[in-house]
Amino acid sequence: MATKILLDKINVPGIRSYEVYRQQGGYSSVEKALKTMTPDEITEEVKASGLRGRGGAGFPVGLKWSFIDKKSGKPRHLVCNADESEPGTFKDRYLMEYIPHLLIEGMITSSYALGANLSYIYIRGEYMWVFKTLERAIKEAYAAGWLGKNILGTDYSLDLHVHCGAGAYICGEETALIESLEGKRGNPRIKPPFPAVSGLWGNPTVVNNVESIANVPWIVNNSGADYAKLGVGRSTGTKLISASGHIKKPGVYEIELGISVDEFINSDEYCGGMMDSRPLKALVPGGSSVPVLPAHLIYKTANGEDRMMTYESLAEGGFESGSMMGSGGFIVYNDTACIVRNTWNFARFYAHESCGQCSPCREGTGWLEKVLHRIETGQGTMEDIDLLWDIQKNIEGNTICPLGDAAAWPVAAAIRHFRDEFEYHVLYPEKVKNRDHFMNEP
Ligand code: NAD
Ligand code: SF4
Repeated sequence: MATKILLDKINVPGIRSYEVYRQQGGYSSVEKALKTMTPDEITEEVKASGLRGRGGAGFPVGLKWSFIDKKSGKPRHLVCNADESEPGTFKDRYLMEYIPHLLIEGMITSSYALGANLSYIYIRGEYMWVFKTLERAIKEAYAAGWLGKNILGTDYSLDLHVHCGAGAYICGEETALIESLEGKRGNPRIKPPFPAVSGLWGNPTVVNNVESIANVPWIVNNSGADYAKLGVGRSTGTKLISASGHIKKPGVYEIELGISVDEFINSDEYCGGMMDSRPLKALVPGGSSVPVLPAHLIYKTANGEDRMMTYESLAEGGFESGSMMGSGGFIVYNDTACIVRNTWNFARFYAHESCGQCSPCREGTGWLEKVLHRIETGQGTMEDIDLLWDIQKNIEGNTICPLGDAAAWPVAAAIRHFRDEFEYHVLYPEKVKNRDHFMNEP
């Protein structure tokens, strides 16, 4: 049985409540941290763990913490990014819904490490019932003395609030999230300055994903070195994967980083193999913004090595023949899936969610959506395929925030690996209109 750090207690009856969570050893990291460790010692443990940001970027968490400006004398903040909106990603919801105190414990220990006395959890508006679960859990934590003034009789105080977004994907981008938390429209800011220098109300702020923060109690209770023993190379620890699509057992799984993609898809412990035993056609391993992989690059990389569930192996081959770990939104497609339709569906999402601040994204995502829709409905031309390529090229790298790249990359990868399918849509419009266009046809 694989090591579990985050989900080991998820099936304990009543673990959502404070009493059961505490009986199971919950909040011990707060005791250990506040009574026996300095904030810098905790940061050093997190650095030693090698934990990388679990929202998608994979930026080292301890390094990010060490950037926080402690000299300015300004108040500091920890903001948990619970605006989980990446299509195919639902792991943070699972944690918050079933074991909310784990996140709250992580918020307290991490806030102490950062010297933050006022912290926030920003949750997406669509998770209203989870928002209520968190509010209840925060109330319980206050009542038990884990939040508020002079926690455990120390001179450390922390107020924690949960704030609900209003349904915009862009508010998951950390600077848009900060704008939204300040009561403004969620438009991303230009970086630098990074939030660690100037974030919420201009104060030094760390924005971390739910899963990243939920790992901190284990690291403090054990050690950074113990965490780093799990996983492979620079992909240390465990990772929650949201598995969906044409598999037998969709769900949220905690894997030790370094297992093979083959094991993840086909073993009974995880996805249980392909649904209806149909052939595997494509994989989006890290949420809708990462490149899609065709069948021959899923279990093996282009140079014939086994493809592993690590940041490095999933990216092996760059955009020519690799993809990314991203947020761990693992979407599996069998041979009945239409890649053009799927790409259009993603493009439609990004066109709708673009905040409109910069032209390449505002205009480009709209164009991508329109041209893809044309091809998907059998009204496209061969030139349209080249047009799509040009549009995505003009978006990539030319925007304020990563939403532009997120819209461009899936289109580029779909054309790179499945151009024949785009051409099929152009050549056989009648079959496409009848939705009778499966891929094994000539
Ligand atoms: P990023 O690489 O720009 O930044 C990563 C983090 O490191 C940020 O917090 C940033 O402030 C910090 N950082 C980087 N360089 C720094 C420096 N020099 N000094 C101080 N701090 C520094 O990426 P990002 O915009 O945070 O995230 C993009 C990723 O988000 C995408 O890869 C995508 O996979 C993911 N994403 C996830 C979801 C989701 O629902 N989980 C939704 C959308 C996108
Ligand atoms: Fe807004 Fe798109 Fe520009 Fe990001 S890339 S700031 S979402 S217009």
